[in-house]
Amino acid sequence: MYKSKAYSAASATSPLARTTISRREPTEKDVQLEILFCGICHSDLHQVRNEWREVMPTVYPCVPGHEIVGRVTKVGSGVTKYKAGDLVAVGCMVDSDGTCPNCREGLEQYCPNLTLTYNFPDKHGAGPVTYGGYSDSIVVHERFVLRVPSNLSLAGTAPLLCAGITTYSPMRHWGVTKGKKVGVVGLGGLGHMGVKFAHALGAHTVVFTTSASKKDDATRLGADEVVISKNEGEMAKHAGSFDFILDCVSADHDINAYINLLRRDGTITLVGAPEKPLAVKAFGLLFGRRSLSGSAIGGIAETQEMLEFCGKNNITSDVEVIPIQKVNEAYDRLVKSDVKYRFSIDMASLKAE
Ligand code: NAP
Ligand code: ZN
Repeated sequence: MYKSKAYSAASATSPLARTTISRREPTEKDVQLEILFCGICHSDLHQVRNEWREVMPTVYPCVPGHEIVGRVTKVGSGVTKYKAGDLVAVGCMVDSDGTCPNCREGLEQYCPNLTLTYNFPDKHGAGPVTYGGYSDSIVVHERFVLRVPSNLSLAGTAPLLCAGITTYSPMRHWGVTKGKKVGVVGLGGLGHMGVKFAHALGAHTVVFTTSASKKDDATRLGADEVVISKNEGEMAKHAGSFDFILDCVSADHDINAYINLLRRDGTITLVGAPEKPLAVKAFGLLFGRRSLSGSAIGGIAETQEMLEFCGKNNITSDVEVIPIQKVNEAYDRLVKSDVKYRFSIDMASLKAE
């Protein structure tokens, strides 16, 4: 074991504060990395504030962070894919059984024995639960380490590890491509990546936002049309016309308004994970044989594919880089949808503490 600097929350109502955690020394197949940037996902906030208590109750202290980019500092004797000095990334998962049907299909995110990057029992016993990327280092099995394309900015790459793959994966699964009309609901961290991917995949892309002030940005990010979702007249113009809608909203909202915008056999996929259940009207689904589905992050192979796609198309997240000392202020702003469009923590600020 060795000590690592981190920021943790002591309870659902405590601010994040400086702490020291234990990490394991790299074992045979482990990669140790110095964390350079870590994105702030709304999931970090849900988890820190115990908003998912019914599904994934938070164990305190909680060290969040699953959008990690760093440099390899040490590797175990059996590691073949990485060496000291490599630029690498770690996302939402750090382990899975590797043998179940989901793992065998490269869908580790659906493994029944999955270990998420934070707040999951730590099999190695460095702590009661895993500790995430709001830290100066982390140790991860090489199977869950990704390679970062050399042409991308590191601060803007970090959010690809969650916001990126979570929007890329369902778009690939449900066949977003040229000739399709695709909606993205909620222009936050996930949403703005969804717009970039839908546009890059060639779809006619429509953004739905509650924030009129984001209209110009949505166009710049690649939207062909922008709809202010509070405006019923604007919404009605799109009735029955979408092949696919990706719902990236973090809070309670009326999903029926979007179901009605799907064409026959269209699909709306939830990636947003609000604290409270959403009310769904049956008739919106029955008329038109429409589907409501969900999707969680993406597998490791697909995450690497997404990173290569981003390298090739020069896609990164639009980030506001902050020192870790501003993390609590950033959380308060995230709740108000006041970020364009992802906070990325510069971990040099933690080292300096
Ligand atoms: P975010 O940056 O806070 O973005 C959420 C966006 O939702 C906001 O920017 C806002 O967009 C819209 N919104 C917020 N409150 C709203 C309300 N009351 N009514 C309508 N729209 C509202 O969050 P994020 O990091 O993108 O995460 C979004 C959600 O996805 C979270 O619940 C997160 O936990 C979840 N998530 C799921 C996965 C997965 O694997 N499925 C992975 C990562 C995150 P506008 O200002 O444009 O309206
Ligand atoms: Zn996330």
